[in-house]
Amino acid sequence: MQRKYFSKETLDLSQRKFLNKTLKIYSLNLELDMHGLLRLERRFHFSDLDVGEKHPRLLPNKDRYSELAILHAHNKLFHAGVEATLAQVRERFWNLIGRQCAKSILNECFLCKKIHRS
Ligand SMILES: [Zn+2]
Repeated sequence: MQRKYFSKETLDLSQRKFLNKTLKIYSLNLELDMHGLLRLERRFHFSDLDVGEKHPRLLPNKDRYSELAILHAHNKLFHAGVEATLAQVRERFWNLIGRQCAKSILNECFLCKKIHRS
């Protein structure tokens, strides 16, 4: 999934090249993990956090996998709102999905539609 959207960035980092400064993701301080996945290098290494939290994987904006990650977090939090859902997703992933996009994904939730209609 990352290769589909970030193939140039993955290749550049694997060849130890610097990323293009004009990219939106340039400021994210990315690194490749041992599986060749793009992860964020967070400045603070809280010892009680696991690898996924310390180094969240990058999620593209428009991708089915990203949508599923949002919906999974939403379900896990018993159909919480946009802010709580995004916070949950960010524990594992650094997503490039904005609030509006997340909101439109949650607007399609069958259960929430049913609850808000009644
Ligand atoms: Zn819902």
